[in-house]
Amino acid sequence: MGASTVRAPLTRGVFSIYCSYPRLKSNPLYFSVSLASSVQQVRRAAAASMSYDKQLAAAKKAAFLAARLCQKVQKALLQSDIQSKSDKSPVTVADYGSQALVSFILEKEFPSMPFSLVAEEDSEDLRREETRGTLVRIKELVNDTLASNGMNDISPLSEEDVLDAIDRGKSEGGPHGQHWVLDPIDGTKGFMRGDQYAIALALLDEGKVVLGVLACPNLPLTSVTSYDRHNSQDKVGCLYFAQLGAGTFMQSIDGSPPRKVHVSATTNPEGALFFESFEAAHSSHDLSSLIVKKMGVKTPPVRMDSQAKYGALSRGDGEIYLRFPREGYREKIWDHAAGYMVVAAGGIVTDAAGNPLNFSRGRYLDLDTGIIVTNQKLMPALSKAVVESLKERASSLQS
Ligand code: AMP
Ligand code: MG
Repeated sequence: MGASTVRAPLTRGVFSIYCSYPRLKSNPLYFSVSLASSVQQVRRAAAASMSYDKQLAAAKKAAFLAARLCQKVQKALLQSDIQSKSDKSPVTVADYGSQALVSFILEKEFPSMPFSLVAEEDSEDLRREETRGTLVRIKELVNDTLASNGMNDISPLSEEDVLDAIDRGKSEGGPHGQHWVLDPIDGTKGFMRGDQYAIALALLDEGKVVLGVLACPNLPLTSVTSYDRHNSQDKVGCLYFAQLGAGTFMQSIDGSPPRKVHVSATTNPEGALFFESFEAAHSSHDLSSLIVKKMGVKTPPVRMDSQAKYGALSRGDGEIYLRFPREGYREKIWDHAAGYMVVAAGGIVTDAAGNPLNFSRGRYLDLDTGIIVTNQKLMPALSKAVVESLKERASSLQS
């Protein structure tokens, strides 16, 4: 199969046990365990009925600004000569700058609340004398982005402010309380090539993803399948946002009114389109080809960097996303939380064994290797094809 690539342009039990085993009544340890689990259930129920409108507005603002910052750096990178294109420093500057900006904005928006951010970067490398120049560039970029987007009332950040904002991303997350989850630039390889990348921001409440914002500065506003990079009418730059139980919306990164989007309702695998990583090192192209062949999918893969794949899926550009990293690779929560939320309104996201993703275990998504995404109707056929393909691969590796 040939591949097309898109270039730039997710007490009852306690009481019944308690009643059947009355001797447990006198056991203080049992009492505290059951109390803790009841408290957790109450907190989860409260989280499920909460509105996160304020958090959503703040997350959108932060993601818009971070997207502006990244666009500026990518533009300069693409205009630079070939020699400087092999230099990784632009992506470093944009990565740290995006994290500093998002961290700074979110904390400033909720001054009276405990702040927890699980994010990819930390400032260790930036605190060395040799990287002082990079730190100064990041500070200037952050301050310029704030000033040129109507936030002149904020006093400019110092280098120490930037380092502190970046380091607020060191939280371990977990099953209790609220935690922001950020990938400041997801798909750095795509960013360097001038292709797809995303700023991916989500909120966890009591271990569940409750909102997601995904800025995809290079994703076509229309379907990736009809996009023509040579047609100046075909614009790029999408921002997706979703709140638990409220559906998914998309708007242009330039601020057009949002419109509700829907996952494809296609039931016939023959016409289904599937997405996978551009980078074969991130996901086995051979395995996904075997899986979709078993399902009867006829179209070639669409290979794309970053969580933009979840965005494209959430508006029905295609039906399936497959991700099969090498055995032992540990997925991080920031690589999936926002994308998961954006596609969760009509799509299902599971690991290779069909388990739902668990974002409550800390910085990693410990799962049965592989992530699969599709609509409700196609999931049974996809799960079956995944199980069969994995068995086949295992037996061919043994023989
Ligand atoms: P994608 O653009 O969908 O291929 O995914 C980009 C993300 O893949 C990056 O943000 C990395 O965190 C993650 N990544 C890095 N190395 C690997 C790997 N060996 N296997 C799977 N994912 C990886
Ligand atoms: Mg990433």
